[in-house]
Amino acid sequence: MKNAIEIEHLHYSYSNDGSSTPILIDLSLVVKEGELVAIQGPSGSGKSTLLYLLGLLSPPTKGIIKMSGKDISALNEDELAQTRNENIGFIFQQFHLLPKTSVIDNILLPTQYSADKGSKEKFLLKAKMYAELVGLSDRLDYHPNQLSGGQQQRVAICRALMSDPEIILADEPTGNLDSVSAKQILELLRSLNRDSKKTIVVITHDNDVARKCDRIIRIKDGSIVRDDHSPGSSVPARVYSPALKKNAATVFTLKGVLGAAKESFPSAVRNLGRNKTRTALTMIGISVGIAAVFAMVTLGQFTQARILSGYADLGVNTMVFYGYPNRDQKASDIVPAPFRFFDWDGELVSLKKIFPEIQRMSPILMGWDGAVNYGGRAIEQDVRILGASEEALVMSRRQLLLGRNFSHVEIAQKSGVCIVGYEIAEQLFTDTQPLGQVLRVSQGDNSFGCRVIGVLASSTSNKEYLKPNLQVYLPFTFYQALAGDWWTSQIKEVMIQVEAGADVEKVGREVRSFFEQRYGSSGRFRVDSDSVLVAQMRRFLALFTMLLSSIAFVTLAVGGIGITNMMLVSVSERFREIGLRKALGATNREIRTQFLVESMIVCALAGVIGLFLGFTAYHTAIWASTKFVSKLQFEWTVDWLALLLSTLSIFAVGVLSGIFPALKAEKLQVIDALRSE
Ligand code: ADP
Ligand code: MG
Repeated sequence: MKNAIEIEHLHYSYSNDGSSTPILIDLSLVVKEGELVAIQGPSGSGKSTLLYLLGLLSPPTKGIIKMSGKDISALNEDELAQTRNENIGFIFQQFHLLPKTSVIDNILLPTQYSADKGSKEKFLLKAKMYAELVGLSDRLDYHPNQLSGGQQQRVAICRALMSDPEIILADEPTGNLDSVSAKQILELLRSLNRDSKKTIVVITHDNDVARKCDRIIRIKDGSIVRDDHSPGSSVPARVYSPALKKNAATVFTLKGVLGAAKESFPSAVRNLGRNKTRTALTMIGISVGIAAVFAMVTLGQFTQARILSGYADLGVNTMVFYGYPNRDQKASDIVPAPFRFFDWDGELVSLKKIFPEIQRMSPILMGWDGAVNYGGRAIEQDVRILGASEEALVMSRRQLLLGRNFSHVEIAQKSGVCIVGYEIAEQLFTDTQPLGQVLRVSQGDNSFGCRVIGVLASSTSNKEYLKPNLQVYLPFTFYQALAGDWWTSQIKEVMIQVEAGADVEKVGREVRSFFEQRYGSSGRFRVDSDSVLVAQMRRFLALFTMLLSSIAFVTLAVGGIGITNMMLVSVSERFREIGLRKALGATNREIRTQFLVESMIVCALAGVIGLFLGFTAYHTAIWASTKFVSKLQFEWTVDWLALLLSTLSIFAVGVLSGIFPALKAEKLQVIDALRSE
């Protein structure tokens, strides 16, 4: 007769915060294959502890345990789990069935961890067969709380039989049952021993139960005090050789992980479904977080693109250079020459030679109180009279709808010609061709006529106060000649365009310091450039986007903490379940995967909802802003960067928020878990 279980000089102590309590002291014992052994002893003597050690739920403190002749200390975690799954069946006093789970699923539980990935149908058939054997065929869809204690224990026995173990360990299986049920359970165990040749170790307080066993071992204070073989019992022979199969899944591969994840999926969904309200509430955090990330990043990108493109068409390589005499100049200041506004022919024209980057240049003279009239029609409000050179229109990217630009000669000869904005042409020349007509222009008390040579195409500008469609361009020399007073005729502003690729800010600084050196403190000079503005705006928007996005990410992190919290609570609640799963052969990786898969499912679901919410939110925002910003047009948009970031966030939060609970679940001590109520 082979030995099913051998233990030699076994010691076991519980260690709690530093101190260790010896429970089992120098136990040695041999259980033969096919034996039905009862263990008896007073409460607290260490019977359950011994059974847990035989069940490989915890390694002994000292001593050797052999299963079918093999020293189990040579096995790694995964092999231990597999041995528990394949070679040992547990039956507990408290049944330890999964609540809110059907009878059939409870029976099938060990197959989740079986290395034999047989077909589901085969397992189902087998489970039904065992259920029939114990008389539960008509209760397969019941939940444990709908069953009597005796029925629950029969479910637990079916579960223990699912993987055809050689050894069945039962810890007071009849302790919670009435005497009739107890008798039935005992008969069941005896028939398993007799007919199926199972080796059974059963802890019992019931002397009637013990007497029906082949052998009674009595334990007291952690030691065996008696070992009686009942003389009449015959120990049937049994020929088999259980071999420990190497667990193929010990190698950590992506395929292994995906496979484990796939297997955990249904039970993860079931677990989450058991707490629908809690799961849903937790999901809100993630949904809002993902929606925020998606919407904020998209809107950030959108505003950047829209606002900046609005400025880019103004021409980013132009600047306006201002110069005024300094009125606060002190008498004591020594200046090389006093500044009295710009002199076009004397100094500005030569700037192009000093700064070769300068491509175009035009003085800008402007009056704010202009009016125009033609043929009895007049526009008296918001008309802007401008004096400029022939290069001004090109620099400000104005298109001509009709006619032509000034010629160089017209500038030099102070010709009385003008180019008018779109609205002026539309309002004044209703029944005549504008070109060639003489328009009356007045500015302050001054009034003069000019011949229209061009009409500008309609234009919108970020500088709305410049009234682009109510402008009248005159050759600046003509403007100067007709200006009513000296102040108005002076050049205070120059528009400068640098070559494409040149640094407009740098040229601006250099021009400024050129004038500052020439005029010292007698002049005040300033450079204004859209490119500076655009650069500042770009920085501001980038910062703004970053700020909004980080708020969104914080929201998401808080949502993630919500999941971690939920999963931690779930780990605590399912303390016993996790212990049971481990006892039935779940490896640490399988436990970890189960919790990770759960958090991933919550995150994925919440994430998809979040993406949808975010999509709706930012389109609402874009739509709303078109109501306030007339330049903006509504459009459907998907920012791929934002979508990618959000999707990655979903994964990251799923993994990160699941890892901590998963590790906690994995670390749990099976014995403590099974003992906990
Ligand atoms: P039995 O099943 O014979 O009633 P147990 O094996 O359950 O006894 O317990 C044996 C002893 O171990 C008891 O004295 C009990 O208090 C102690 N014990 C059980 N679990 C722990 C633990 N986690 N830490 C410390 N002592 C424990
Ligand atoms: Mg006990």
